[in-house]
Amino acid sequence: MDTQLTKQPTRQPLTRGDRLWASLMDMAAIGAIAGGGSCRLSLTNEDKLARDLFANWAREAGCGVHVDRYGNMFGIRPGRLSNAPIVLVGSHLDTQPHGGRFDGVLGVLAGLEVIRALNDAGIETDHPIAVVNWTNEEGVRFKPGLTGSKGFVGDLDAASLQGTEGADYFAELERIGYAGDPNLRLNVLCYYELHIEQGPSLEQERARVGVVAGVQGVRWFEIDIAGKDAHAGTTPIVARSDSFMAASALAIALRQSAISLSPDLRFTIGRVEVSPNSTNTVPGRTRLFIDLRHTDPAIMDAFKQTMAHVIERVSAQEHVQASVSQLMDVAPVRFDTEMQARLAACAHALEVLAPTLESGAMHDASSLASVVPTAMLFVQSRDGISHNPREWSEPGHVATACEILAQAVLSHAIGSMPEHT
Ligand SMILES: [Zn+2]
Repeated sequence: MDTQLTKQPTRQPLTRGDRLWASLMDMAAIGAIAGGGSCRLSLTNEDKLARDLFANWAREAGCGVHVDRYGNMFGIRPGRLSNAPIVLVGSHLDTQPHGGRFDGVLGVLAGLEVIRALNDAGIETDHPIAVVNWTNEEGVRFKPGLTGSKGFVGDLDAASLQGTEGADYFAELERIGYAGDPNLRLNVLCYYELHIEQGPSLEQERARVGVVAGVQGVRWFEIDIAGKDAHAGTTPIVARSDSFMAASALAIALRQSAISLSPDLRFTIGRVEVSPNSTNTVPGRTRLFIDLRHTDPAIMDAFKQTMAHVIERVSAQEHVQASVSQLMDVAPVRFDTEMQARLAACAHALEVLAPTLESGAMHDASSLASVVPTAMLFVQSRDGISHNPREWSEPGHVATACEILAQAVLSHAIGSMPEHT
């Protein structure tokens, strides 16, 4: 039979977009703030209520709920094969102080909807499927962020955790009743995370969803420029050693270097400190703080080299001394290509355009990718807005994204590749 000529009947979706949407709105009511957003900082009373609601929903869906030492919550739907590794799916329920209803929450509740949908359809899988809520992704109340997922993969120095206003991470876990089992170990096959894009590319491309290839690396630099304090009225311009004017020349020249190296290189000077910061004094010291992002470490290395030359040239021209130091280096993350193909195939089967894109922000998936095959699916964000009560993704787009996630998770948990249509 020539199957190419046979039109496939439209498949009934597995998941229920209306049920997922209702759960998103129920969750958003916890810690609701003006403008339609939510404020649920990690390990606060609001976070506890969100956790309790999620745990109840997971139990109602037949999952066993387990908590590890970092307070990460896992709702596990058993599989047919005993001891088979888990297909893990999730994100985070904590928010920014002026957070929206979708950042993180969508990934957790979409994972729950996948499990509810499999229950409705009476589908068993070989592998267990677990939905996870990672603790303190946002890093607002405790530093560093991505705490739970970093702890889970063994990439966290628990002693270095710092809470605002003296808050202690483990004491707060205890207080809200989520100090978990320090010996909990899960055997994970792979990790899927659905998240809002938090940027404008999918909207510009008129795509509901996108498959994420990876997360940009981030490096921070400080350039310290030393000139000489001098009187603004009595010192001729040519006789000055003006640290701020040197900083200005450096900023312009470095931005040009960044643009020439790669149009995708994100170069930002978001913080400048000028001393003595007095209107009638030529400033003797200026510090520039640079945030640099790209997917390719070689491009960032090349920028670092160019930066050294530019600093040398400008320092000589402006009669200042300048030095540079690197404050942070987070390596770029590449997601699993087989899982990206699986998500793309599931989108294709539903006749949904799903371009490949890069993530500008860090996610829990960045932590997981260091230990298990990991993939992310983005859903379009209106105007690219997030960390804001106005954050919004269309209900139809959310439903489509959840269905693609469900098809990918299901195919993985029954050990098959999705059919190519
Ligand atoms: Zn998030």
